[in-house]
Amino acid sequence: MTIIDLRSDTLTFPSEAMRQAMVRAELGDDVFGEDPSVNALQDYAADLLGKEAALFVSSGTMGNLVGILLHASRGQEVIVDADSHVFRSEAAGLAVVGGVQLRPVATERGILSAGQIKSAVRPLDDDHQPFTAAVSVENTHNGHGGIAWPLADLQSVKNIADDNRISLHMDGARLFNASIASQISVRDISACADTLTFCLSKGLGCPAGSILVGSVEQIRLARRWRKLLGGGMRQAGVLAAAGLYALDNMVDRLNVDHHNAYLIARGIVDIDGISVDLTRVQTNIVYLDLDAVSAADFLLACRDEGLLGLAMAERTVRFVTHYGIEEKDANKVPQLVARALQHCA
Ligand SMILES: *Cc1c(COP(=O)(O)O)cnc(C)c1O
Repeated sequence: MTIIDLRSDTLTFPSEAMRQAMVRAELGDDVFGEDPSVNALQDYAADLLGKEAALFVSSGTMGNLVGILLHASRGQEVIVDADSHVFRSEAAGLAVVGGVQLRPVATERGILSAGQIKSAVRPLDDDHQPFTAAVSVENTHNGHGGIAWPLADLQSVKNIADDNRISLHMDGARLFNASIASQISVRDISACADTLTFCLSKGLGCPAGSILVGSVEQIRLARRWRKLLGGGMRQAGVLAAAGLYALDNMVDRLNVDHHNAYLIARGIVDIDGISVDLTRVQTNIVYLDLDAVSAADFLLACRDEGLLGLAMAERTVRFVTHYGIEEKDANKVPQLVARALQHCA
């Protein structure tokens, strides 16, 4: 049986052409700053995002950790939305490594408003309270179904951050999906953030790696944090070459993933016993809420049908489209879901 694996867009393998780029990569020792492929990727990414400098890091988690540590130090607080990856899925790294406290704010759709940020910023004249150092936003928002931030919301968050003299970090793990869905250039999105991380290893199809961008001074400090975390890699150009290939060749095809996710969502919306909020299906993620069966039981039945997804809550399942999933696969999913649900009943 062929398996349609929609657990995550991290499951992609490098294409043959990407592997060729990796094989041919010029290499050096990146801890000495001498890997030409890493340097080329960093320069290319910084330029693409309109920032002074970039750093190749091993994962999105490291990018967020290092990025936020540039803004917040021990005993300080960072505002995040309560469903953010930084808050929920990064092993409390900011607390462990930096002594940084996160301030989770509940949102409807993962979009923090200026008002919410304003009221979460701590007063400076109260010895009881921590200092607020930064706000971190997530675009697209994984936990809210892959929603892309509209430009007006980004700008108002940036303005309120500036007004309150706090920094803004963006977890742009799926930045290019966000850009396509919102029709805002990655450069315009990045202009709303002081630092930004994006993943090469998700929809862009690389085996590993993320990019952190910021000012020259920030990236100089970020190199030090990366070293401290054990993230200084040597001939990392084999990975950076995949990243360079991806930025040139894998961005436009994200449209296909978005199209396929929507096909899946539209096909499932009519199935009794499942609800899908189509307004959230803007990129490559589809969340299903099950009326009467558990996510665990449903996913076991899906597995029997050759379909894999991920449980996100007691009755919530996530499907993610990616490189390797074709339209013909997407078209089969609603039927497989309907059959799996029948078997649960
Ligand atoms: C995947 C992801 C990350 C972390 O990336 P890793 O490379 O898995 O560490 C961060 N933020 C969001 C929103 C993600 O989806």
